[in-house]
Amino acid sequence: MRIFPVILHVDMDAFFASVEQRDRPELRGLPVIVGSPPGRRGVVCAASYEARAFGVHSAMPSNIAQKRCPKAIFLKPDMERYRNESIQIMRLIAPFGDQIEQVSVDEAYLDVSLQCQLADHDQSLHKALDLARKLKDCVKQERGLTISVGIGGSKLMAKIASDFDKPDGLILIPERDKVALLGALPIRRLPGVGKVTEEALLAAGIDRINLLKDLSHPPTGLSVNQLQHLQSLAEGRDDRSVRETTSIKRISSENTFDEDTEDRRLIRQCLRQQANELSGKLLSRSLHAQGIQVKVRYGDYTTLSRQISLTDPIQREDDIYRSACRLLGKHQLVSRPLRLIGIGVYTLRESPVIQLLLPLE
Ligand SMILES: [Mg+2]
Repeated sequence: MRIFPVILHVDMDAFFASVEQRDRPELRGLPVIVGSPPGRRGVVCAASYEARAFGVHSAMPSNIAQKRCPKAIFLKPDMERYRNESIQIMRLIAPFGDQIEQVSVDEAYLDVSLQCQLADHDQSLHKALDLARKLKDCVKQERGLTISVGIGGSKLMAKIASDFDKPDGLILIPERDKVALLGALPIRRLPGVGKVTEEALLAAGIDRINLLKDLSHPPTGLSVNQLQHLQSLAEGRDDRSVRETTSIKRISSENTFDEDTEDRRLIRQCLRQQANELSGKLLSRSLHAQGIQVKVRYGDYTTLSRQISLTDPIQREDDIYRSACRLLGKHQLVSRPLRLIGIGVYTLRESPVIQLLLPLE
């Protein structure tokens, strides 16, 4: 029997900012920005909807955010608290699906196909509405947070759907409407269209998804494979399955120096080697990492670690090395001689097919 895929994409609304507003009632209704304070060269990690009304969005430099919204309240991110909240929510929503795949701290796909099978695909999708409402209520009641849920016949459509009506949204995209709906969207909304691909397509005059079908040859900067893949996504064809987030939780590599050192060259060399080792392990298991951590131990055995969740999962040595260096620099961890240094990667996920097929950008 053919199974009609029914996928939910669950996306927490302005997650970090919402957690702050929930826990600190005096912040409710106010423009809250979680991220670097203005005056430093950092960016916005999350903005409450009140701040978004002023045109503030995540990844925007904090200085610009403050100019747009002078009354904004800037808060330092408390990643530990958001991560714990994320774990609670994931535990809460996992039983609603047959499979759950967490894609970031505030996003997950649920496969609910088996519970929703009816005579045709669109009927099956409609059956998931009730389930999605229950799921939203559950998170609201138990955790005091709103989420947006998209229902679609694939991961692609579910994700597009969840984005349509934030916050507190619930949108279903029927199979019969998907191509028309996708067609009107800007090309960057397709998975796999990063900055480089977007620029290549824009240069060729392709700014909407429905224009992709008119291309018979890839524009400069794109391969034939890549174009074909995007054209098939533009038709709403996406057969990526919801993969249970892998059980291998983290891989790490660390070294103790013969003598405590703050020699940058030596430290870089060591990091490079660790990045190489980790990249090899990820590659051989077809995994990408969405989080990276650096750890240092000083001569007096004080041990510090700092981590960051990445928007784009990484696997290559260069990316691991550079992210680790960035973390070390940002937190000024090499401020005195080190006894030990290490890199860990976590939130490991199976490599997306698109990255296996396509040349890396
Ligand atoms: Mg979100």
